[in-house]
Amino acid sequence: MDHALVWMNGAILPASKAKISVFDHGLLYGDGIFEGLRFFSKQVFRLPLHLRRLYASARAIALHIPLDEAGLVAAINSTVAAFPDEDGYIRLLVTRGIGPLGISTTGCEHPQVIIIVDQVAVVPPERRAAGLKLASVPTRRAAMDVLDPRIKSLNYLGSVMARMEAQLAGADEALMLNQAGQVAEGAAENLFVVRDGVLLTPPTSDGALGGITRGALMEVAQQLGIPVREVHLSRYDVYTADECLLCGTGAGVLAVREVDGRPLPSCPGPLTRQLMEGYEGLVRGNPC
Ligand code: PMP
Repeated sequence: MDHALVWMNGAILPASKAKISVFDHGLLYGDGIFEGLRFFSKQVFRLPLHLRRLYASARAIALHIPLDEAGLVAAINSTVAAFPDEDGYIRLLVTRGIGPLGISTTGCEHPQVIIIVDQVAVVPPERRAAGLKLASVPTRRAAMDVLDPRIKSLNYLGSVMARMEAQLAGADEALMLNQAGQVAEGAAENLFVVRDGVLLTPPTSDGALGGITRGALMEVAQQLGIPVREVHLSRYDVYTADECLLCGTGAGVLAVREVDGRPLPSCPGPLTRQLMEGYEGLVRGNPC
């Protein structure tokens, strides 16, 4: 955190100098949106896709982003350039901005863009190597007609609770189900399983975020000749899978070793290993 740089209102500041008002509706109500991005050798991975998702989230909550795409790209790239490290993590937020106490958006006249550039919070290598234990948790992914999970909003209490419940149950990460009891994703990662040589993942309509890493892994799989299908998955499908993995911008690709106390036959399994290598090559600019 000491290391982080923050872009706000056209200036790049050290983290200790970056302040927002207690009347910002992002803080008061979680009223805002965000993206998590990575850069490698100063190159932001899949920036256009992240920006597309950000502007879609903004439209879905009727939030005006006070910078056009070129302006945002310039702000991101200048903050990345000023950051001392070659690789790192970017948290891009747009809040509803300052307004009166009250949920109405009408008094919020200036949405606030914040770009934080920091080191990535790495999953400890021993935990990555051992593979993750998942636990299905009581907190469900909201239904699309409640709060569409495709909106990457600042309201992450569902994910926060799910991760906490998984950890209270002695696991590393949550297996989140939707209202129908189908598998949606992890608390902050998408989920894939391998069955009979085929890579399976729930469709976004089952409550999975349209993850950038999910999309990248599907491309890697295609290039490797691994068939990919979006299908409904039950807990049974995960318990009886040949392999299981989670993926996300921050986490990368993480192999799963156990789900609700049922060990998987291999971790990382052979296809997971290939996908991990292919994904590493992709983010480092060597397409597989
Ligand atoms: N699902 C959720 C709920 C997430 O918060 C994230 C991380 N942003 C993901 C999946 C993975 O998405 P991405 O690959 O775009 O980081």
